[in-house]
Amino acid sequence: MKIIMLGAPGAGKGTQAKKLAEKYAIPHISTGDIFRANIKNGTALGMKAKSYMAQGQLVPDDVTIGMLLNRISEADCANGYVLDGFPRTIPQADSLTSALLERGGQIDYAVNVDVPDERIVARMAGRRACPECSTIYHIEFNPPQQEGLCDACKQSLVLRDDDKPDTVGKRLKVYHNQTQPLIEYYRNENILVTVDGTKNMNEVFADITKVLEA
Ligand code: AMP
Repeated sequence: MKIIMLGAPGAGKGTQAKKLAEKYAIPHISTGDIFRANIKNGTALGMKAKSYMAQGQLVPDDVTIGMLLNRISEADCANGYVLDGFPRTIPQADSLTSALLERGGQIDYAVNVDVPDERIVARMAGRRACPECSTIYHIEFNPPQQEGLCDACKQSLVLRDDDKPDTVGKRLKVYHNQTQPLIEYYRNENILVTVDGTKNMNEVFADITKVLEA
C-alpha cells in the first residue's frame, strides 16, 4: 500500500503516518526527518536544507524530489510506504506521479488530516521532539512517561526551531500557498481521504483505517 499524508504542519500527520507504517509493516518516510538527519550528520544535503528549514520555508524542489525518489527506490519500499511531508508542492506531486507511472504503480490513498489554523498554533507550542530518534510528543495530548525525556532513548526533549511560534506562522502561510492545492490534486485523482484531525489520535487513526480497509 502506498500512502501519502497531507495536512498542515502540526496536524498530526506524522503521528498517524507512524501508526499506519507499523500496522501495515511498511516504511514511514518523512522528508523532514531525512533533512534533520542530514543536518545532524553535516552532509552537503543537510547544508543545503538547513537555512530554508530554520526559516519555515520549503527546501527547493530540485533538492527534495531527487532525494525522495531515491529513497522510494530502496528495497524496503517494494511493498509500499507512508510518505509524510512529501509531496508539498504540485511539481513534487507531478514528479512522484510520473516516477510511479514509469514503474507501473500509483499512490493508493492521500490521507488529509484536517485541522483549523487556530488549533495548529496552540498545538505546535506544546510539541516536543527527541533530538536522537525524532519521536514527537505533546506536553498535554501525548506526554512522555517521564517529563521532558524521550520514552525510547531518554534524551532531553526539545522544542524544534521550526515549531517556535514565529516560524509556525510562516510555515502555515507556506502550507496554504504551496501545499493545500494538493488536496484538490488528489481529490481529482479520486484517492483523497479526509479525516477530522481535531479528534484524539486513536480516533483519527480508527477513522483512517476504516476507509483504507473498506
Ligand atoms: P516536517 O518535519 O515535515 O514538518 O518538515 C520540516 C521542514 O523540512 C519543512 O518546514 C521544510 O523546510 C522541510 N521539508 C520537509 N519536507 C519537504 C518537502 N517535501 N519539500 C520541501 N521542504 C520540505
